[in-house]
Amino acid sequence: MPTFDLYQTDLPDGFDPGPSVAIDCEAMGLVQRRDRLCLVQLSTGDGHAHLVQVAPGQTTAANLTRILADPGIEKLFHFGRFDIGLLYQTFGVLTAPVWCTKIASKLVRTYTDRHGLKYLLSELLGIDISKQQQTSDWGAETLTDAQCAYAASDVLYLHRLRAALDAMLVREGRGDLAQACFDFLPHRARLDAAGWADQDIFAH
Ligand code: MN
Repeated sequence: MPTFDLYQTDLPDGFDPGPSVAIDCEAMGLVQRRDRLCLVQLSTGDGHAHLVQVAPGQTTAANLTRILADPGIEKLFHFGRFDIGLLYQTFGVLTAPVWCTKIASKLVRTYTDRHGLKYLLSELLGIDISKQQQTSDWGAETLTDAQCAYAASDVLYLHRLRAALDAMLVREGRGDLAQACFDFLPHRARLDAAGWADQDIFAH
């Protein structure tokens, strides 16, 4: 069982995110504006997760948003587009700089169309995580241990995954292209929020 701490509404004072912090979010669903943010998970890559439960209607979390806004702290996501948009919608903070393991995977694992976290962890790190709790009620006042363990597993291995994907990006000469995509990602989330979610503005 992964180890985690569960906090209400914000990280504790003095929380040290280190130079690169993995972040994932759980929401009531996947529809922007309709589905509220319920849980924010963080890990510094030390095998421990910090879970922050977000209350209905909550719009501030000073310690969390300070990290999101800090240009000196890298925020590491898997499919960051969703999480960045949700955090922006909830707290009004567009987080940067960011790194996304799903984008990195799409840029180097061109031999497959399986870029889900479960597949990546299994293939690159030999780690099997359960996705059983993915569709559970994240808005519940009291989260179950199974929910917390699942939520933690979404951030616990992102640093190791990032290292594996980074090596592949370097090997294939796509590090610069990946970095350009990461730099644009927060703006992609802004486009989603502004009404261009279903449109590829680069398409003809
Ligand atoms: Mn998740």
